[in-house]
Amino acid sequence: MEAGCIKVYYQPVMRTLTGEICGMEALARWDDPEYGLLPPIAFIPVLEEAHLIHKLDMCIIQQICEEYAIREKRHEELATVSFNLSRMDFQYCDIHSFIDETIRANRLPRDIFRVEITESTMEDDEKRMHDVIDRFWDSGLRVWMDDFGSGYSSLNVLKDYHFDTLKIDMVFMRDFDVRSREIITSVVDMSKRIGVHTLAEGVETEEQLAFLRSIGCEKAQGYYIGKPMPYEACIAHLAKNDLKIEAREKKQYYHDIGTINLMSPTPMFFQEGDEVDGEEALAGQIPLAILEVTDDGHIQYLFANDSYIRMLNSVGIEGTEEIEAAYEKTNTPFAQRFGQMIQRARQTGETETVNFVRSGRHCFAQMRRVAGYPGGAAYLCIFQNLSLGVEAGKEDTLATFANDLFTLYDEIELIDLNTGFSKNIYRTTQNLDTYNKRPAREELWDFAERQVYPEDREKYKEFMDPYTVEKRLDESIAPFISMPFRIMGADGIYAWKLQIYLYAGDKKDRRVLACTRRIDRNNLQLLKK
Ligand code: C2E
Ligand code: MG
Ligand code: MG
Repeated sequence: MEAGCIKVYYQPVMRTLTGEICGMEALARWDDPEYGLLPPIAFIPVLEEAHLIHKLDMCIIQQICEEYAIREKRHEELATVSFNLSRMDFQYCDIHSFIDETIRANRLPRDIFRVEITESTMEDDEKRMHDVIDRFWDSGLRVWMDDFGSGYSSLNVLKDYHFDTLKIDMVFMRDFDVRSREIITSVVDMSKRIGVHTLAEGVETEEQLAFLRSIGCEKAQGYYIGKPMPYEACIAHLAKNDLKIEAREKKQYYHDIGTINLMSPTPMFFQEGDEVDGEEALAGQIPLAILEVTDDGHIQYLFANDSYIRMLNSVGIEGTEEIEAAYEKTNTPFAQRFGQMIQRARQTGETETVNFVRSGRHCFAQMRRVAGYPGGAAYLCIFQNLSLGVEAGKEDTLATFANDLFTLYDEIELIDLNTGFSKNIYRTTQNLDTYNKRPAREELWDFAERQVYPEDREKYKEFMDPYTVEKRLDESIAPFISMPFRIMGADGIYAWKLQIYLYAGDKKDRRVLACTRRIDRNNLQLLKK
């Protein structure tokens, strides 16, 4: 160390979602004048045995900080850097204080550093390990678990300690067979359920990288992306291979996107800690995509799984690029409707649903905002072609065509007369103002003021009044009541709409369906008379 033989090599880490370089791992090398370049395996066990490893780790941290301080002064983009610690660091020195002081002395931001701790470190005294890990978190350093899956205690360590990221050991990449892939998939799925991020080590092929991306493993590290190199060589390698360093202001954004569990059967509604029905866990079956929407009005798919592409294909859309291009033509009905859906998802922060017909197929799309950065946001999207099963079955039963019947309606609201609140269960129009945050009656009254033709307003309120609907339904000879009104659409023009009320399910449940239907031209003529 005194002779300057200990060098830091940096290995780049890639964000699978974007292909950008989101970090580097600092790895020790002994550059010996006599023996040449020695790998850590040649000297770390010896230093551990001699109780000197903490000196090496301090030397590495010191060098990283000096290197980064130079880069920071030159305003270069700084990749997040992780360094390795040994168990003995906590016994033979105050490594926390050393790290804090070294970062401070070099005037570096703390949030670019990550601490890697291996499983074997955790075999020690449990109470002390908690303190060690908590201290890092308290001082603003995220703690990663290194080499997950290589030891015997992985799972209980994961249960007991707070880690930001789990580094999946490279043994699973070494023989990349079906079994290994299943294990990696399960580890990523499990990690997301408990709110831990994932990184796979030892990525050596394009196929491995594509696989990790498809299952939502956020980061990849390995020779395929880059070998450990001195800092300058590493930067040159990135430039030569057109690998960009991720902008720091987008880090938290991608981190948030990384919590989406692409393998969840209910990704839209899934939140950390939710219970998931194992029966439904059909991995990768849900047509999922992640869409980035910039504030200046562009969209870009960050991710779309195979199932999502297949759904698009089934309604005559070739791929996500076609949607991106269609959205650029801002004056088209598609771009406007899609834009409205995005706007609503942004405003409510909740899952927004829209139903529509495309190429004669009844489709269903859902969208929820999942993360944002200054300048844009990301949305999780689901797209289903509900008519798909029809072709497969080819049975001429009512159930087969029930979806087609729905297309008669613009909107269906389910009103619970016990609570007075309503819930949208079907919608083809984009009505930005119906949020169902207030009792149905208030919403309806407001709607009447805003969108019902003044002459029809009082009649509309009388008809739509949820307080009296039961009585009127009970008195009606037909199993429904209906009446036409002139209602303003999104285009600002009044059009005749038929309002229909009927009981939903058992009358005892006191729930009703409020349906809105267009009226075709022939019937319009009758109305005018
Ligand atoms: P690690 O922390 O798991 O580091 C990853 C190791 O995997 C590195 O080996 C890296 O060169 C190697 N590697 C990365 N990508 C690939 C790949 O695609 N294929 C293959 N076959 N290998 C890949 P390295 O540099 O020999 O380091 C070995 C171990 O030594 C590290 O494992 C870490 O536990 C330890 N180590 C390295 N530097 C330090 C240090 O400064 N302090 C401490 N305490 N331990 C260190
Ligand atoms: Mg490591
Ligand atoms: Mg490792």
